[in-house]
Amino acid sequence: MGKIVQLPDELSNKIAAGEVVERPASVVKELLENSVDANSQWIKIELEEAGLRSIKIIDDGDGIDPDDCETAFFRHATSKIEDEFDLFRVKTLGFRGEALASISSVSQLTLRTSTGDQSGNELVVHGGDIKDKQKHTKRKGTEIIVENLFYNTPARLKYLKTIHTELGHVTDTINKMALSHPDIRFECYHNGKRIFFSPGNGNLLQVIQQIYGKKIAQNMLQLEDDSLDYKVSGYICKPEVTRSNRNFISLIVNGRFIKNPVINKAIFDGYHTFLPIGRYPIVILQIEMDPYLVDVNVHPAKTEVRFSKEKELFDVVKQSIYDVLHKQRLIPSGAKKE
Ligand code: ADP
Ligand code: MG
Repeated sequence: MGKIVQLPDELSNKIAAGEVVERPASVVKELLENSVDANSQWIKIELEEAGLRSIKIIDDGDGIDPDDCETAFFRHATSKIEDEFDLFRVKTLGFRGEALASISSVSQLTLRTSTGDQSGNELVVHGGDIKDKQKHTKRKGTEIIVENLFYNTPARLKYLKTIHTELGHVTDTINKMALSHPDIRFECYHNGKRIFFSPGNGNLLQVIQQIYGKKIAQNMLQLEDDSLDYKVSGYICKPEVTRSNRNFISLIVNGRFIKNPVINKAIFDGYHTFLPIGRYPIVILQIEMDPYLVDVNVHPAKTEVRFSKEKELFDVVKQSIYDVLHKQRLIPSGAKKE
């Protein structure tokens, strides 16, 4: 008799959740991405115990159609792509259809949602099982409460760090979201106290000020560059306010916060000799490009991407950084341009 069995959905969802949901911050990231994709203009985050006890995200976005409420929790169920070709032109942050399935399989989740034109729905899902479904009258938008994360996966729970550390990861996630979406108003409360706020008026410098403080905001130089394939914009710090680690470099490609060593190198090269050894700049770089030029389907967390014209992008970024510094006469006119 054969030994291979097909795992039940509940178990395979838990296994898949391991890839997507590592800690409270990953839940916050996935839920915020969904709110952004739903065209929200306002997103409120309420955390209890750094999200370990509860994470509540409320948005004023499009809401979920009553017919889709249960399907949204199936694995690989998404409204964002339909076929293989869509994968090469995704403009949304999500497209894998895994987050709600994963999160709901390792927590006790409540969804309240309405598209605004009909009565809303409430769905309660515990460990992947639907416990309750009701009509819910509500304004347009979505509210998701995730309680007791990892209550049914004790091994995962064991790996979580202190409240302080987990809260650090969560605020980092919210900061990144706010920097990539200055046009959305974010508000975050921890144990009832407001810990973050971004005005949502489209002004990136104001978001930078909320996160890094006034002194740094005042020492940023604006960058704006349009090349054939890439539109690069954002803020870079004057060389005198550099930092001792590279965590202050924010790369945003088509509204998605990413990590990329090639762009990092382009930034360092653009700063040229103006970076003292062991120092790193504060940079918030937004790059817009045809989605066709960037493959976002590299890793489940979607922070790694692949560029099809990496060398061109490298040159554009390096040059635009160099130009801004040069214009400010921070680079001596004799400095050689490589
Ligand atoms: P993905 O984002 O990759 O499509 P998710 O599991 O995160 O997958 O979400 C599944 C679907 O549920 C989404 O495609 C979307 O249609 C719907 N959805 C989830 N969150 C929201 C939200 N806050 N507002 C509106 N629709 C949502
Ligand atoms: Mg999603």
